[in-house]
Amino acid sequence: MRSRTPDRLCAEAVDVARDAAARAAHPQPLGAYLGAVAEGDRLVTHLFASEDPGYPGWRWGVTVARAARAKYVTVDEVALTPGPDALLAPAWVPWHERLRPGDLGPGDLLPAEDDDLRLEPGWTPGTAEAPEHATAERAQVTDVALQPGLGRRRVLSWAGVSEAADRWEETHGPRTPMAENAPGPCVSCGFLLPMAGQLRQAFGVCGNGYSPADGRVVSLAYGCGAHSEAARAPEPQRPAPPVIDHMGADPL
Ligand code: SF4
Repeated sequence: MRSRTPDRLCAEAVDVARDAAARAAHPQPLGAYLGAVAEGDRLVTHLFASEDPGYPGWRWGVTVARAARAKYVTVDEVALTPGPDALLAPAWVPWHERLRPGDLGPGDLLPAEDDDLRLEPGWTPGTAEAPEHATAERAQVTDVALQPGLGRRRVLSWAGVSEAADRWEETHGPRTPMAENAPGPCVSCGFLLPMAGQLRQAFGVCGNGYSPADGRVVSLAYGCGAHSEAARAPEPQRPAPPVIDHMGADPL
């Protein structure tokens, strides 16, 4: 159990600790003495400020110890440790969590993990055990199912669909500056290509080469200035000729 009161001889061994810290800190100078902490019975850590410009707020900790009934204090350990205001490196992020959208380049591979929450098991011809007598029916079902693309090992889960919808809504949704200044929503635009699947009632694909959203999935409530029914700009009105012409010169 850790003793609250530092051992007297260990607590007095500040010079021993300072020598050890100065040797470890060399060639940088050692900073001020910051105090002692009792680590256990006859075990005390003396702290000194680090003056190394690369380690602001760090401290040299020198742990000194003494054997029972011994008069001599020896250095147990010297370590540079961060203080409460120390400049620290950011928390470690595992490599597989560092990728961000857009990081993937040509030739890069990014297989989805087996437990990726965005995916769930899809329907494939071999996933269901069929009784022997049902083989013919199963082959027929397989043919029909493969046509709409059901022969995939995994498909988007509800979480994956929801994530995608949130992403698209954020970039091409009604609350974007482009949509807020558009003459009309995509749902009424002739350039909108309808989507298949469960998101078709909320999204489509823009097929207007002049729109910044060309080829992108857009919310039906999105819109841009290239809307097919955008009102034509009215012709500027010609001012009526002046009744008394004081603009031109009269020939004399
Ligand atoms: S042209 Fe504009 S309004 Fe029309 S579908 Fe594309 S983004 Fe929507």
